[in-house]
Amino acid sequence: MSGRIPQAFIDDLLARTDIVELIGSRITLKKSGREYKACCPFHGEKTPSFWVSPDKQFYHCFGCSAHGSALGFLMNHDRLTFPEAVEELASRAGVEIPREARPDDGRSRDAADLSALMGQVASHWQGLLRADARASRYALEQRGLTPDTLARFMVGYAANSWNDVLRRFSGGGGNARGAEQLAACGLVIEREGGGSQGGERHYDRFRDRLMFPIRDARGRVIAFGGRIIDQGEPKYLNSPETTLFHKGRELYGLYEVRQSRAPLKRLLVVEGYMDVVRLHQAGITYAVATLGTATTPEHLKRAFRLVPEVVFAFDGDRAGRAAAWRALNNALPEAREGRQLRFLFLPDGQDPDSLVGAEGREAFESRLEGALPLSEYLVQELGSQVDLAHADGRARFAESARPMVAKVPEGVFRELLVERLAEAIRLPAARLRELWGAGDGRSGGGGTGPTSGLGALTGARNDGARGGPGGGQARGRAGQSAGRGGLMRQAVMMLVHYPPIAGQLEAAELADLEGLDEPGADILRALVADLRAEPCASAGQLLERWRERPEVERFGRLAAAEVLVPDKAAALRELQTALGRMQAERRRRRFDELLERERDGAITPAERTELQGLMAGPTGS
Ligand SMILES: [Zn+2]
Repeated sequence: MSGRIPQAFIDDLLARTDIVELIGSRITLKKSGREYKACCPFHGEKTPSFWVSPDKQFYHCFGCSAHGSALGFLMNHDRLTFPEAVEELASRAGVEIPREARPDDGRSRDAADLSALMGQVASHWQGLLRADARASRYALEQRGLTPDTLARFMVGYAANSWNDVLRRFSGGGGNARGAEQLAACGLVIEREGGGSQGGERHYDRFRDRLMFPIRDARGRVIAFGGRIIDQGEPKYLNSPETTLFHKGRELYGLYEVRQSRAPLKRLLVVEGYMDVVRLHQAGITYAVATLGTATTPEHLKRAFRLVPEVVFAFDGDRAGRAAAWRALNNALPEAREGRQLRFLFLPDGQDPDSLVGAEGREAFESRLEGALPLSEYLVQELGSQVDLAHADGRARFAESARPMVAKVPEGVFRELLVERLAEAIRLPAARLRELWGAGDGRSGGGGTGPTSGLGALTGARNDGARGGPGGGQARGRAGQSAGRGGLMRQAVMMLVHYPPIAGQLEAAELADLEGLDEPGADILRALVADLRAEPCASAGQLLERWRERPEVERFGRLAAAEVLVPDKAAALRELQTALGRMQAERRRRRFDELLERERDGAITPAERTELQGLMAGPTGS
């Protein structure tokens, strides 16, 4: 359901929401002038540096720089994904979320029906577990789960029957509509060849198994994992892909992680649901597992919305190593600065379930502290495949590393990774990049591309950490353009703080805007065009609209910054002044350029006319 909620609805939802009331329902706010303040819920503090602005519909913290709109607050504070946060606001406001037209309309209603059915089956199975002595004994004694854990994870027992679920939940085994709903949930399977037995064309998928429901962010059951009781094959059986359940997206235990009160700073990804349940029981309430699939980039995106650190735990055996390598490859596109990805290998023959049972939480957590960072694991693994003492071994190392590095998004993390790899083969990083040559053509060269435009636009420091051959030059350019960056930043700042002023720009000013060619001009133009096409009332609304765009982070910082203009009218004057001065500067630069060409005798007739025009017209203040 991602990406299908119309933007106009989100605008409207934010306009209906009072951010002060929303945040005030979760933490205690104190009025202070026109704003409200509190001790920040995102970092520990004794004196308040967390502010909520009713005018901007925006919050920000001077201590840890957390900031955002009402939706952003829900995502960070309640740990919701974007669509979940939208759902939450919509249900507060008592409005339905409209879905943009898609082929199978009415599907969300069906989905709600299916998920209600799944919930009923889960409760039924919970009851069966309590009633069945053998299954209870297995869960409590052999698996070592406590009654409290069974309740928290809604663990149940699927009877040793071919049609218990079919008969109970289809309105009679012969009821085709009921059976089809169960089949759509993945709870029953159609008999091959369309045959039937006693009038029943379906049979139960899960039989004689301990059942672990997987729940979505709002606690609705969307799938099951089932472990065989005692012996049998397959040992683990999961729900198939259904309209409710996409295994490449869901993490088992994430709902329970969110329910736990402990502060969340990392997630531990393990291989099985039994591991998750046992780890939670032992106090490691941040464990999750994938269901019948390797970790996907989508899983990691979800994880990194909640926490800055993800640790993978794998068995130390051959299969575990192979799974870890797959996870590493899938993780590379999601690796970047500010995110930690680490790998933990357990002693041979141990899984997290048995290990935490044997040694307890503290010992297990100290293992986590020693988990290998992604870069170290990569170096170790590649290094183990070749002989680094010889030149050809080092060359093969570089060759294997190259496609992997190419998967990592450009940025500080990638630069550091290249440096680490270069170090492993005793080569200067610049030389390694050179060897890889134009292979990806993007390494090094700080200050190119949209980033530098944005840097000038928002007056952000051009980070020296980018390194690379272009670094020094980029800093030089940023220095020269500081004055222009200042005006550009001021213009964007006014629009972020007072979005409605975009609608009040006159034709002449819009023409000036068209002519601008400095770094950041494209973004300023896009911002003005967007705000004129679809007016928006507050900074919070604007940030939501630009959520998916790379500029949003910097806009957020601008929105949090102090502005010294008292109202909309003053902001409009500021914006007009900034535009006028940038235009004047552009004309002056062009003037100097043409004058130079005339002195060199290289001027064309057309340029001479342009020069005369510039001499006659205004050249700025
Ligand atoms: Zn803070």
